Amino acid sequence: MENQATMESQQSNNKLHVVFLPYPSAGHMNPMIDTARLFAKHGVDVTIITTHANASRFQKSIDSDISLGYSIKTKLLQFPANEVGLPEGIENTIDATSLEMLVKITIGVRMLQQSIEVLFKELQPDCIVTDMKYPWTVESAAKLNIPRIDFYSSSYFSYCAIYFVRKYKPHYNLVSETQKFTIPCLPHTIEMTRLQLHNWERENNAMTAIFEPMYESAERSYGSLYNSFHELESDYEKLFKTTIGIKSWSVGPVSAWANKDDERKASRGHIEKSLGKHTELLNWLNSKENESVLYVSFGSFTRLPYAQLVEIVHGLENSGHNFIWVIKRDDTDEDGEGFLQEFEERIKESSKGYIIWDWAPQLLILDHPATGGIVTHCGWNSTLESLNAGLPMITWPIFAEQFYNEKLLVDVLKIGVPVGAKENKLWLDISVEKVVRREEIEKTVKILMGSGQESKEMRMRAKKLSEAAKRTIEEGGDSYNNLIQLIDELKSLKKSKALCNKQD
Ligand code: UDP
Repeated sequence: MENQATMESQQSNNKLHVVFLPYPSAGHMNPMIDTARLFAKHGVDVTIITTHANASRFQKSIDSDISLGYSIKTKLLQFPANEVGLPEGIENTIDATSLEMLVKITIGVRMLQQSIEVLFKELQPDCIVTDMKYPWTVESAAKLNIPRIDFYSSSYFSYCAIYFVRKYKPHYNLVSETQKFTIPCLPHTIEMTRLQLHNWERENNAMTAIFEPMYESAERSYGSLYNSFHELESDYEKLFKTTIGIKSWSVGPVSAWANKDDERKASRGHIEKSLGKHTELLNWLNSKENESVLYVSFGSFTRLPYAQLVEIVHGLENSGHNFIWVIKRDDTDEDGEGFLQEFEERIKESSKGYIIWDWAPQLLILDHPATGGIVTHCGWNSTLESLNAGLPMITWPIFAEQFYNEKLLVDVLKIGVPVGAKENKLWLDISVEKVVRREEIEKTVKILMGSGQESKEMRMRAKKLSEAAKRTIEEGGDSYNNLIQLIDELKSLKKSKALCNKQD
């Protein structure tokens, strides 16, 4: 009996233990949780460090993984809601309905640093995979003498573009904010304007000091994990590895890999939503012809101003195409609701459209055969999820690195029609004069959902990428092999470390 216990403990000591530290926003957390689950599926002991309310968003998937025998645990920390002045349970940027809340969530997350470091010490993992938003974990990993893997939850393309903009500052000394410049050192000619850059990139400001270390932390890590795949952006993967010189593994698309059945697709990233709750939506989709519905979503936390919602209403109605539109409520738009509710009643009657308030089962919608295109804010996860479903896109970036992703979709992959977004700005700062007009929306919807040559060609290219996305995560595919290779490499590191310790 004793021998068996010793053997079991030795076996578990020999097993690779990787700790994942996700950032609490859907765009960062969803892909990291899916990646952690893939590690567990391939024999790794996985621990995810998070807070209570955030864990409840993915606990269902973890429980079902555990029931399949995978080793995956959560270590929960108390979010300092009282200290930062937030109601209990508001721990994720999805829940922020104002800039003030967003800032408080960010401060709360920052306050967890010490507790996380204590946990790292307690857990003594063999490796930590941490979100890019925790650059201080470079030092934590160094103290523990373990590899830190940086999880950059966007494209290689955007990292490379940002790297060369930071390095060569091609946007300095231009005559205007709207003058075009070319990003140096990229394999394609990519033109941007200063207005399309993050404001911390345009010139040094208080935010630069926060973002620079995040980008630098990738260079100071053992390597980077990318939710991407070889066929999608191979030129940029190569640039990242060779010219920029960071080791990396592409293991995407992770949402498709980790959430294969409809029940998982329905509940991914949200509390207690199951397939049964979406019967009405699915019936509506089932009543539509294949590829006839446009899905409109701006991601997990952009809440567009009322003036912009009005333009979308008219643009969609005037286009004449079927649509599903996810609207996130904005507490400050009091007069908005009457107009939108009227609109909702109108489209319910005509069955032309379907409105989802606040949160949609996105994977389920994108993978439905009736869905034929997406209006996207170019968040990387939505981009990959749409690509996986073989959908062409209307690109409508709002802020952060979304304008770079638009360039990849429109200029490199040629599967996107740009709506004409001009300025990189948090949605809260969009002014009435800066909204995208209904005519532009109508025009691009007609191009994307129509039967013209441009649409046919984009659709064909998107389908090809979808096939590649499906192949890459199957046994023998590139992303599949990369994951296995990374796990093997980490196991070898663990072994040689153990050997060195023995010899000491
Ligand atoms: N998402 C979802 N339902 C929604 C809004 C978002 O399931 O109503 C998911 C989406 O599928 C994606 C993530 O939330 O996995 C959003 O990440 P993305 O990088 O696209 O954008 P972000 O929210 O970070 O701007």
